Amino acid sequence: MLELGGFTPLSSVDWPGKLAAVVFVQGCPWRCSYCHNAELQPRRRTGGPDWASVLAMLQRRVGLLDGVVFSGGEPTLDPRVNSAVDQVRALGHRAALHTAGIYPDRLAELLPKLDWVGFDLKTGFGDYDTLTARRGSAAAVRRSLDRLLASGIEREIRTTYHPRLISDAALRDVARVLKNVGVRHWVLQRWRAHDDDAARLASSWRWPADEFLHELRDDVPALTLR
Ligand code: SF4
Repeated sequence: MLELGGFTPLSSVDWPGKLAAVVFVQGCPWRCSYCHNAELQPRRRTGGPDWASVLAMLQRRVGLLDGVVFSGGEPTLDPRVNSAVDQVRALGHRAALHTAGIYPDRLAELLPKLDWVGFDLKTGFGDYDTLTARRGSAAAVRRSLDRLLASGIEREIRTTYHPRLISDAALRDVARVLKNVGVRHWVLQRWRAHDDDAARLASSWRWPADEFLHELRDDVPALTLR
């Protein structure tokens, strides 16, 4: 059975413009230092809700929700997410996915069942392994991005902006990648502090300068900040 780290019955922010329940799948093989869900990184955790009770709750909410988002951790880590999406769709819900593109083949299997994907493009491909603390992460993300774009599924490409970990050069690299693959909408999302040190940094946190954002918009015109 799908191993869960958490469940949010109603969210207005995890699928833009939609009211959705969010299923947090336990486990992620990467170790991004800014991770705001670090408790979801280990593959096993006791105390999460069980899938059967979440599914029963989702059954009672048919008609009340716009859909169900599978998030994490990295939801494609667990091959059982595939049948979980089937079960949710069989109830009559639409399904969405948050992914960092870690498992391109599993993502490709899931895509035909999904109505929307929130895809994290974390940094320039040259910086990926440092940010994720895992070798080979850039290659996986390239393949996943290609598959997502080829699918034509509605999606949002987003990058978490951390002022110390994401340099201007990295943002330029991401913008160039998106321009080259024809993506015109890109979301820079504000990094969220997860401990006291981070909270101190967050208190002096700033978006990149307007002039620099204008430069990025030369490559990706519909760049928005969130
Ligand atoms: S990919 Fe996402 S869940 Fe995994 S460590 Fe990075 S930020 Fe955390």
